[in-house]
Amino acid sequence: MNTCIFCQIVEKRVPAKLIMENDYVVAFSDINPKAPVHALIVPKKHVRSVNDLSENDATDIVQMMLAAKEVAQKLQVVKGYKLAFNVERAGGQVIDHVHMHLLAWPDDRNIGDQPEEKEVAMI
Ligand code: 5GP
Ligand code: ZN
Repeated sequence: MNTCIFCQIVEKRVPAKLIMENDYVVAFSDINPKAPVHALIVPKKHVRSVNDLSENDATDIVQMMLAAKEVAQKLQVVKGYKLAFNVERAGGQVIDHVHMHLLAWPDDRNIGDQPEEKEVAMI
């Protein structure tokens, strides 16, 4: 049995607040949000880390970016959002299944404001 938590979410064996899904990716709300809007965009195919990505994953990588755009539209944050990958433990990666964070601070910040440095560090 696959013990990867994100694979289990992809397979609907673990519940998550789903935002969108297509043949390549799922997007869902982060269980422990680090920003007012915090979504995770996950390829359905299990790849451990950005360090393990190859040309074979090109379609999945593109689909993640397109999904980010779709998620931003759905969550009404197209004015501004941050996309981030944590890579390996030293880069803050905890879950060993490639995922992109989509973070937005839509309410209490003006257009062009950047999140505080410490908030980014906490992602
Ligand atoms: P990482 O630090 O690996 O880049 O980020 C992993 C993210 O996954 C964290 O922000 C964490 O809150 C989130 N997360 C971990 N387990 C679960 C889970 O079971 N469900 C959801 N929705 N998010 C999770
Ligand atoms: Zn996985």
